[in-house]
Amino acid sequence: MSGLFGVVSKDDCVGALLYGTDYHSHLGTEFGGMAVLGEKFERQIHSIGQTQFKSKFFDDSRRMYGNKGIGVISSQDEQPIYLNSKFGPFCIATTGLIENSEELTAGLLKKGVSFSEVSKGVVNITELIAKLIVDGDSIVDGIEKMFDAIEGSCSLLLLNKDGVYAARDRFGYSQLALAKRDGAVAVASETTAFPNNHFKTTKYLGPGEIVLLSEKGVMAKRPANRTNQICTFLWIYTGFPASSYEGINTEIVRERCGRSLAKRDTDIKIDLVSGVPDSGVGHAIGYAAESKKPYRRPLVKYTPGYGRSYTPPSQETRDLIAKMKLVPVKEVIAGNRIVVCEDSIVRGTQLKNFTVHKLWDAGAKEIHVRPACPPLMFPCIFSLSTRSIHELAARKAIRDLEGSDIEDVGEYIDHTTEKYKAMIEWIRKDLDVTTLRYQTVDDMVKAVGLPKEKICLYCWTGKCPGKGKAQSCGSGAAEMAKG
Ligand code: SF4
Repeated sequence: MSGLFGVVSKDDCVGALLYGTDYHSHLGTEFGGMAVLGEKFERQIHSIGQTQFKSKFFDDSRRMYGNKGIGVISSQDEQPIYLNSKFGPFCIATTGLIENSEELTAGLLKKGVSFSEVSKGVVNITELIAKLIVDGDSIVDGIEKMFDAIEGSCSLLLLNKDGVYAARDRFGYSQLALAKRDGAVAVASETTAFPNNHFKTTKYLGPGEIVLLSEKGVMAKRPANRTNQICTFLWIYTGFPASSYEGINTEIVRERCGRSLAKRDTDIKIDLVSGVPDSGVGHAIGYAAESKKPYRRPLVKYTPGYGRSYTPPSQETRDLIAKMKLVPVKEVIAGNRIVVCEDSIVRGTQLKNFTVHKLWDAGAKEIHVRPACPPLMFPCIFSLSTRSIHELAARKAIRDLEGSDIEDVGEYIDHTTEKYKAMIEWIRKDLDVTTLRYQTVDDMVKAVGLPKEKICLYCWTGKCPGKGKAQSCGSGAAEMAKG
């Protein structure tokens, strides 16, 4: 997972680039990078594992100068990559996941292409994308050919003398949105990057669409495909509340999720509604509005020091953050029947160890957990994911109930079956909570507000969206199902 920001301005763009990129800090925790082009290319990449992006890049930003630039915050590779090519020099930043990267790398090596950005024997994916693009007849043709060659997804920004090329992945799993202000145009993964930089969103790029941002404005370079499968998880968890995807705001979707959870809870009596910060908060606000019970904060996040517990790649770091960041408020908890809205349950261990235990320890009378999405059944195969199939809470339950891993989990996906109920009961006991009730797929789709076929539901249904290359996800999923 990475967040991308690009800008072209009539004058120096570095300030907008710094703050615009910084608004993608929730999408990556490992590396940050900025590249600008004025009289020459200037590029900086830093590890942001221990220091926030803007603190790390502030001094660089005072030295850099240019009227066009791209920035990236990444959980995977060091980027942007600089390449001098037959199209001239360019810098490129990407987000996505390439399933067949080894095969593509081997193919290029055979053709005599070299790679310089290799870490622990693995090629930098952004460099691989760059090398695939320069195989084309032009930059746009190269991007199209790269789209054809990869299995998985890739959105990118490419900076050269023409401006900033922006290309959204061909099935639209991730987003790129365009914006403008007086004398400047911008592109971002997150529309949150726009308002405080005085940009207004003008367009959401369609799947596979390519545009060029320049001093003259935005030029269409390739039209959008009709198939769209944007990631539903953006609204549920990974996206920022102020951001909109396909024009639909995240906070509003979360409120709708919470409302639909509350509508089905006619059989419990509660004293207060809470959300596991930050992403559970919007869901909880919707639940509280629907149930007419107060929204309160039994667990408060120590915001100054801790980021997200999902994005850091090591489990140890994720657990440490999860343990330290939420501080219980005994005065709110003791003696109360509490609804806890959570974006999702991945492994369940953090919820159990660092939320539920704290609430019981502080004297909660009842704990009712309400995840805003259905049980996760498959790891994401379109973007970097920290979860593997065998560690998902639902899979652990199924393994225990069935005695071993099973291929066909259809009955466990259908919320009306006895097997589904047994799985939920297993997870409830494991979490040690009073009740557990998940969102249904249909209610989640309704909360998003787009037709089912326009959003990716693979995490929950295992149904492979898209056509052509994306069908390869079937084999990928089967491989992963084997563990
Ligand atoms: S598989 Fe899940 S996380 Fe991945 S793109 Fe689809 S909805 Fe998003």
